[in-house]
Amino acid sequence: MTADHRGIGLTSQRARDRLIRELREMGIGSREVLHAMRTVPRHLFVDEALAGRAYENKALPIGYGQTISQPYIVARMTEALFVSGAMDKILEIGAGTGYQSAVLAQFARSVHSIERIGALAARLRERLAALHYRTVRVKHGDGRIGWQDHAPYDAILIAAAVDSVPPALLEQLAIGGRIVAPVGESGSQWLVLVTRYPEHFEEKPLEEVRFVPLITGLG
Ligand code: SAH
Repeated sequence: MTADHRGIGLTSQRARDRLIRELREMGIGSREVLHAMRTVPRHLFVDEALAGRAYENKALPIGYGQTISQPYIVARMTEALFVSGAMDKILEIGAGTGYQSAVLAQFARSVHSIERIGALAARLRERLAALHYRTVRVKHGDGRIGWQDHAPYDAILIAAAVDSVPPALLEQLAIGGRIVAPVGESGSQWLVLVTRYPEHFEEKPLEEVRFVPLITGLG
């Protein structure tokens, strides 16, 4: 049995179609984003035991107290960052399984992903290589300080909750670039879209969300 078939059976295509319908009903309108959500094989980013549930619109456990993001959230954040045409570079903070990284890879020439838990970083690096996502670079590190070597970024996605967007990430954003991040404490987090203009940043709240917190230091 190949990796593609493990535990997923014949219901895979139907389950994927159902998920895409659901995302559309929840307001995801971008054809490009829906296409990316249909193409990236989420069942290969979770443990075998959970593969049968990979196309449910739910966050699922990935160990170390973390979860793979809910498909709707992945689609929503990607849609918020994507304007039109391919971006050059995206920075992702909190790569987890690499699922969101693989979705982002459809929208940019390169994706730079940081994960603070060493074991997750190692696993996602292997997984992305096995699935031939060659444009994603993975770093084991603290995302709060960003990844200066490749800055500036056209888009930055923060996949864990912050009190406010870390200053280093604001600095590493290109003029005209966008950051999407869950901001606030548990119980009242909002997904926020930040746009950088030549002289200022503009912040727009999108919707209420629930994320695990961004943690300082390495794990
Ligand atoms: N979008 C991912 C899941 C994100 S969960 C997916 O689909 O798989 C949030 C991730 O952020 C976790 O893996 C957690 O370890 C990581 N994280 C938390 N604090 C971090 C930090 N300071 N720097 C980098 N990653 C961090």
